[in-house]
Amino acid sequence: MEPRSLGSPGGDSVVEEYGVYINGEWVDSSGEELFDVVNPANGQILARFPGGTREDVGRALEAAKRMFPGWKATPPARRGEVLLRAAQILRDDKDGLGKLLARENGKVISEARGEVQEAIDFFEYIAGEGRRLLGETVATELPDKFAMTVRLPVGIAGLITPWNFPIAIPSWKIGAALVSGCTIVFKPATGTPILGARLVSALAEAGLPPGVLNMVTGRGSVVGDEIVNSPLVSVVSFTGGVDTGKEVYTCGARRLANVGLELGGKNPTILLEDADQELAMEGVLFAAFGTAGQRCTACSRLIIHKKIYDEFLEDLIEETEGLKVGDPLDPSVDVGPVKGKEQEEKILGYIDIGKEEGAKLRCGGHKLTGDGYDLGTFIRPTIFEGKPEMRIAKEEIFGPVLTVLEAKNYQEAVRIANDVQYGLSSSIYTRDVNMAFRAIQDLEAGITYINAPTIGAEVQLPFGGVKDTGSGAREAGTTAIDEFTEIKSVYVDYSGRLQKAQIEE
Ligand code: NAD
Repeated sequence: MEPRSLGSPGGDSVVEEYGVYINGEWVDSSGEELFDVVNPANGQILARFPGGTREDVGRALEAAKRMFPGWKATPPARRGEVLLRAAQILRDDKDGLGKLLARENGKVISEARGEVQEAIDFFEYIAGEGRRLLGETVATELPDKFAMTVRLPVGIAGLITPWNFPIAIPSWKIGAALVSGCTIVFKPATGTPILGARLVSALAEAGLPPGVLNMVTGRGSVVGDEIVNSPLVSVVSFTGGVDTGKEVYTCGARRLANVGLELGGKNPTILLEDADQELAMEGVLFAAFGTAGQRCTACSRLIIHKKIYDEFLEDLIEETEGLKVGDPLDPSVDVGPVKGKEQEEKILGYIDIGKEEGAKLRCGGHKLTGDGYDLGTFIRPTIFEGKPEMRIAKEEIFGPVLTVLEAKNYQEAVRIANDVQYGLSSSIYTRDVNMAFRAIQDLEAGITYINAPTIGAEVQLPFGGVKDTGSGAREAGTTAIDEFTEIKSVYVDYSGRLQKAQIEE
């Protein structure tokens, strides 16, 4: 079955019903369950997807297994060309995809278009790996002998992604796995599978052989669990929350599968007393409230030097109160809805926690109601003044909530910044080059920005975190293929006699 139209609920929206994508075709799931994908701005149903079954995953894995030898044997440059063609297909439809993403996820249109661009950029970047897939040649200790490494695909990759970046994160995993020669079973988040489906369709149109990439939607506890536990899956690449990540890791460990984890964050921005405050203001607003704070790299803690604390905070509150919250398709809107009721409840719950633990609520802190808001899930951008030991300063809220903390000097700021379980992104604003370089060493994070917000990763640099934020190879950048390739060491002895390394004769 092709995705079929179920009619239009109004506006420019058409509800489409999808199947599961196996062997190059959208086919019916073996189960009955269906779930709706809902626009968080107005509650409109955008699409309907199957809640896939273990049997669906089994069929998808069989397809991936059957296609693996042929895809592995396809020259890497040819594999890369498919990604280049897919990048062009995405580029041709960037506007449409951007709008769809804004409706599916709720991020504002400029950010939604930016996310589509990120997928395009990554496919273009990683396609070039098809002409590298670098190994090493290394000196040997014996004469007439040659030593080198080659990269081979790991096998079938099980890819599991979250709802907050519905095309960029799938593109990182799918692009790197494909160019490496892996075949795939992909499970997008149930909240935002449409852009994942569009990515799959773009790759099919670009000439990806049927069965190399398969997609099964559905519950994590069924579809995700089956992928993670299947002995056919050689590598699980997972992005999501830390609790789910721990479960995935444990299951993978039981059968010694390779598992890559990209998990949560509680990302700090430090403002030293010499910070360019105007620049920092723009950066903090963008990092804290962009995508309604629902980025793994969102700035959720602002640590301000006491000398500029009051002055900066008052301005920040004023700017935050001026942010326009509303329909993400309206280009004048700064902050869209949060992704659905569950997110809304979780974020409002954290706002209550902040109040209960004595943090000072300085702005926002409530759901928005009334015209333009009642059908969606909108939360007014929120600022708390808190203390480092409070839960709102330690736990990932994943919403438009910023906790501001005061530090008496650089050392205290770094201590506060590092005193959380996570270590994804970090940022420091200072004009002092020595302090900037010191922070690169001191901040416990996979990413540090100097005089720039905690968000805005580029595809050519590795992406990932330390501590509970993750484990395994970094995604994107030159390390993107590490997760999906095995290194084989090769010795070629052309001496014509038995040579024994390390052993003295
Ligand atoms: P989540 O952990 O709830 O779900 C992520 C995915 O895992 C979904 O596809 C879900 O269906 C699936 N899943 C759920 N239970 C599973 C199970 N038992 N086995 C296998 N799969 C299962 O996360 P979410 O709410 O979709 O995403 C938000 C989280 O993702 C935040 O914590 C955020 O920080 C994190 N995130 C991290 C990065 C990063 O690169 N570090 C990027 C984006 C989001």
